[in-house]
Amino acid sequence: MKPIKVVGGPGIFKKVGNLGKAVTKHIANGMKQVPEEEYKKRLIVCSKCEFHKDMRCQHVSCGCFLSKKAWWESEKCPLKTEEFPEGKWPKLDIVSKPDEEKLFD
Ligand code: SF4
Repeated sequence: MKPIKVVGGPGIFKKVGNLGKAVTKHIANGMKQVPEEEYKKRLIVCSKCEFHKDMRCQHVSCGCFLSKKAWWESEKCPLKTEEFPEGKWPKLDIVSKPDEEKLFD
């Protein structure tokens, strides 16, 4: 297994662009959220990840706050390696309820 090299997070413009894409996908997906159990599982995986720093994903394709990203059904881990071809947690296609109350807390 090849170690994953972490070289800082995305710059501010990349982060803003990534956030815009994530919000657009989330809205297009009906603002659905994953069940709490799945949310917690995702955060546990992230907490052990080399890209996790201060509750943010420092992957260059992300930069998101994990406390939000992990709730959104439309999101997935951005990592793509031989070991994790679908990321460390994949997108979950399930029916769930809108998370309007989670957006602004
Ligand atoms: S989303 Fe993926 S790459 Fe980012 S911190 Fe979580 S497990 Fe790591």
